Amino acid sequence: MLKEAEYRGTFQTVSDKEHGEIIKLYIDKRLGIKKGAKRLNRSSKTIHEHIKKHNMAIDRSGFCAPCKRSGSQYATKSQLEKNKKRGSLVFLFLSTLNVDK
Ligand SMILES: [Zn+2]
Repeated sequence: MLKEAEYRGTFQTVSDKEHGEIIKLYIDKRLGIKKGAKRLNRSSKTIHEHIKKHNMAIDRSGFCAPCKRSGSQYATKSQLEKNKKRGSLVFLFLSTLNVDK
């Protein structure tokens, strides 16, 4: 089941769909964190957190639950690796487990 965004006070959590969107923009459209943040009207911190979260999930269990739930083509490690041929960015993505900025 899709997890929808929730409002907690003034802070809005990121839905599964939006998480998938962040990852997709980052890989597909090759948008950097700052541009992605602008596009989705989110802070770069949020974008960064979700990329990190996604990477950690892939690294830990081989798939990302929010991406899987939102039907993303980048939900599993093998899907990510398959798309590696399309550009080096996915590879870069897979190796950015310790992004600091
Ligand atoms: Zn993900």
